[in-house]
Amino acid sequence: MHCWDFHTHREGQLHSIFQAGKAILAEGISVSMGIHPWDLDSNWESHFEKIKREAAQNPCVLAIGEAGFDRLKGPEIQLQKDAFYAQTRAAAELGIPLILHCVKSHDLLLEYLKSAKNPPCIIWHGWNQKPELARQLLPFPVFFSFGKHILHPGSNAAKWLAACPIDRVFFETDDSELKIGSIYQAASLILQLPEARLAAQVIANWNAISKRKIS
Ligand SMILES: [Zn+2]
Repeated sequence: MHCWDFHTHREGQLHSIFQAGKAILAEGISVSMGIHPWDLDSNWESHFEKIKREAAQNPCVLAIGEAGFDRLKGPEIQLQKDAFYAQTRAAAELGIPLILHCVKSHDLLLEYLKSAKNPPCIIWHGWNQKPELARQLLPFPVFFSFGKHILHPGSNAAKWLAACPIDRVFFETDDSELKIGSIYQAASLILQLPEARLAAQVIANWNAISKRKIS
């Protein structure tokens, strides 16, 4: 059973989703493709057309993203919204999840979720927000990817992992130097479940929400 890493900036790992962003990579590497709010400019639509074409014909594109909102960095909010809404539509059409980057903008996410007729499954990556906020998201198809923050027992991430429905959980290393095994190990202690059981659970979680399956 493989311990999948659902969001990493480290290229060349097996059983992981490499954050390719706007870059078109060799086939055979599982990636997420999309436009990060920090990378948006007035040309984003033409970049995104290329990404959509690649994602449609390349089954190794497992997710759209990172996409989302950032009030601390990035262009004006209207532009961020336009790009996010376009990326959610693409993910929904392909039947694959969207990996979310969301900083000081959960209100924008809720606004989207309340208005969306056919939202894709959205994986909030690097989750470390208060459990109260997470609970507000549970009525929607929102999932939580846990990384380095769960290594700190008192963190919001560790608290929410302990309470979160198990079918909403994923794990990641993101831009850290950590090995994915250390994240599973920490999660195993928090949840009192064997790592192999967690590894199987998150693969099943993925396959329940994506047309592009993993094993
Ligand atoms: Zn990342």
